[in-house]
Amino acid sequence: MQRLILVVEDEKPILDILKFNLEKEGYKVATAEDGEEAIIMARQVNPDLILLDIMLPKVNGFDVCKSIRGWSDAPIIMLTAKSEEVDKILGLEIGADDYITKPFSMRELSARIKANMRRLSADLPENGQPKTRTNGSVIESGNLKIDCDRYEVTESGNPVDLTLREFELLKFLALQPEKVFSRGTLLEKVWGYEFYGDDRTVDVTVRRLREKIEADPSSPKYVMTKRGVGYYFNGEI
Ligand code: CA
Repeated sequence: MQRLILVVEDEKPILDILKFNLEKEGYKVATAEDGEEAIIMARQVNPDLILLDIMLPKVNGFDVCKSIRGWSDAPIIMLTAKSEEVDKILGLEIGADDYITKPFSMRELSARIKANMRRLSADLPENGQPKTRTNGSVIESGNLKIDCDRYEVTESGNPVDLTLREFELLKFLALQPEKVFSRGTLLEKVWGYEFYGDDRTVDVTVRRLREKIEADPSSPKYVMTKRGVGYYFNGEI
């Protein structure tokens, strides 16, 4: 199946190069050159993945991301030019899955795209030995229910709206309860590529995840911190 990528970039030469190279790699490509067009185009073509520049005419990339995230779960990779923008991507609730800093090589971008696409159809890891109750693709622990096939999570029967990355992190931890993973390992296993050692990404995603699934995020009972090491899923509830 040919996957469709929406590329949003106002600098025409960059847009053309991206389109050319992505098509060469076998993707279908839709384009938009400002934020307003991006929102309309995303609705029209329903892309499998979105590459989204931040500095855009009419509506900026942050607001475009929030708007699209309101109805779509497609992975969104932000294209950033400044490190201050990275802080904003990580710190705000805009719902981006990933970012890449300009200038980037096509090879690097291609790896990011593949990693984010792969997450969409990821199966359970082969080495997963769940101790929590697992019924087919459904993991249950306490009041939490994770349906890996349907990409659905409920807490006490209430649906929890997670981003793809939050879901993948939760699933990964829950499949190996009680096993502590370092931030570096989580970046590699959940994010799926070398992330140049930015551990804050993991912390921010854990924080957001806790806000969504924990009754008291400051005193979590599902996703636990192992001080000085990393994170693990509590399999004893
Ligand atoms: Ca721009």
